[in-house]
Amino acid sequence: HAKQAGGNTYAQYSRDFTDYARDRVLLAADLRQALERNELVLHYQPQVDLISGEVVGLEALVRWEHPTQGMISPGRFIPMAEDTGLILPLGRWVLRQACVQARAWREAGLDFGTVAVNVSGVQVQRSDFVETVGAVLRETGVDPALLELEITESFVMDRRQGSEELLRQLKSLGVFLAVDDFGTGYSSLSYLKSLPFDALKIDQSFIRGISLNPHDAAIASAITTLGGHLNMEVLAEGVETREQQEALLALGCHRAQGYRFSHPVAAKDIPEILRRATLMPDDAKIPHH
Ligand code: C2E
Ligand code: MG
Ligand code: MG
Ligand code: MG
Repeated sequence: HAKQAGGNTYAQYSRDFTDYARDRVLLAADLRQALERNELVLHYQPQVDLISGEVVGLEALVRWEHPTQGMISPGRFIPMAEDTGLILPLGRWVLRQACVQARAWREAGLDFGTVAVNVSGVQVQRSDFVETVGAVLRETGVDPALLELEITESFVMDRRQGSEELLRQLKSLGVFLAVDDFGTGYSSLSYLKSLPFDALKIDQSFIRGISLNPHDAAIASAITTLGGHLNMEVLAEGVETREQQEALLALGCHRAQGYRFSHPVAAKDIPEILRRATLMPDDAKIPHH
């Protein structure tokens, strides 16, 4: 049996798989209670103008402060929440929390541009999604123009029955619609043209190599040009270095988010960030002659 097999790959695989499956079962049970126990928290990552370094938006990113495992990243529990249906109450909580926070910042006189909320394809497919978004906006008193919804390209391109109509209804609420992880999901460009999106977010996998790999640069450039022609804003995700920033500016992309400007931070740290004139690091300043 497995014990005698020692380093046998099947035994190893089966143990890893069991750990993984157990992890999922345990986490799924915990996640069910996490919402009631207030263990979920939103962090916010600034989105900046690449020339001025001014904040143009904030992306809400959910974290789970697990009582025994510490901070768990969404990559570990969002897929599970999608499989179990927990994404529906979780997604509603995220949307409401981001709107409550946006309202509070506005009342404090802070200008954050828009607050962006990630929504799962599982949420969007529900027949009551538009109603839910409308209700949250009304209940929290947030101007719809301050809310941006990020939908991943893979969902958008699914061409599910009625998804065009659904996006149009969302748009008619007055919210801003962005395609997340653009470039990874096999877009049909003629289909994209017919959808009411306001922005494209270039996936960070293309930004990683942008200053070194001509293919990544070519893709980022093509997305920027496409967005411009379709009248959409284009924002680069995952900008970490000055070289990446300069490569983006050279190809005409003027918005970004990434560790170079700010990591995602707790809500309490946002007011101080918004009071700064710029998030541009000093090394970006072009010397005058
Ligand atoms: P995303 O929406 O594409 O978010 C960008 C991810 O990149 C975030 O990871 C962010 O922390 C990370 N990031 C930002 N700047 C940099 C950088 O300079 N370098 C690198 N390497 N990474 C950077 P995070 O917070 O772990 O979220 C991962 C994904 O989980 C998100 O990808 C999104 O798809 C999903 N997610 C997060 N919050 C929610 C949520 O509230 N609802 C749903 N449905 N999905 C969420
Ligand atoms: Mg915005
Ligand atoms: Mg996102
Ligand atoms: Mg992304």
